[in-house]
Amino acid sequence: MELLAANWKMNKTPKETKEYLEKFLGLVEGIKDVEILVCPPFTSLCVAKEMLEGSNVKLGAQNCYHEQKGAFTGEVSLDMLKELGVSYVIVGHSERRWIFGETDELINKKVIACLEKDIRPILCVGEKIEEREAGMTLKVIESQLKLALSGLDDVSNRIDIAYEPVWAIGSGNPATPEDAQLVHRFIKDLLGDVRVLYGGSVNPQNAKDFLSMPDVDGLLVGTASLDPSSFAQIVKASCRDQG
Ligand code: PEP
Repeated sequence: MELLAANWKMNKTPKETKEYLEKFLGLVEGIKDVEILVCPPFTSLCVAKEMLEGSNVKLGAQNCYHEQKGAFTGEVSLDMLKELGVSYVIVGHSERRWIFGETDELINKKVIACLEKDIRPILCVGEKIEEREAGMTLKVIESQLKLALSGLDDVSNRIDIAYEPVWAIGSGNPATPEDAQLVHRFIKDLLGDVRVLYGGSVNPQNAKDFLSMPDVDGLLVGTASLDPSSFAQIVKASCRDQG
């Protein structure tokens, strides 16, 4: 099943989350043939949990810490997230890597911790523009995947991968669907039949083009997920009989 995931990043207060979901749930009501996921900030998880109960929209978090509890000021554990109804966690987003200095080693620990707690990680990988221009895209993707999944056996049915070229995120300059397809195929050749999402400047206009590629199994959407109508349009672009 395709996965349409919203990454709100550091946007929306609990009150704004409530307003968004009131509208969004009505717009996607009854859609069953795709998985719909919203990943609000930690501070909105509680209100989102209440609102999503019994709906067709799942709840995810944008980050986690791999330790279970203790002296880790400012961090949030997987048990804490689980109690709030979180079933997915975005791990290794490029903003975590490049703004907050997350290493492949830390990302590996987070992926392992998610799997141990039965929370599905969405592992993000993607090349920077200079790496792309140097023809290094596939090498970078391979290295990020190998390091993030180090020590793990076949994870293909327990994890999702998001291919998010760093230069395409929030830039209004998406990869072409054909370029995404090539990288997605490469990821599946490495990992087996894993679900691979594309992320990077997806919007209601281009969503269908990505989803029509044979190895694009869903989308991770930032900016265009902040408006409920826009994200609902993207969700509907994935439905065979709609959009
Ligand atoms: C993201 O940050 O995961 C993302 C894909 O952002 P945007 O859709 O704004 O490019």
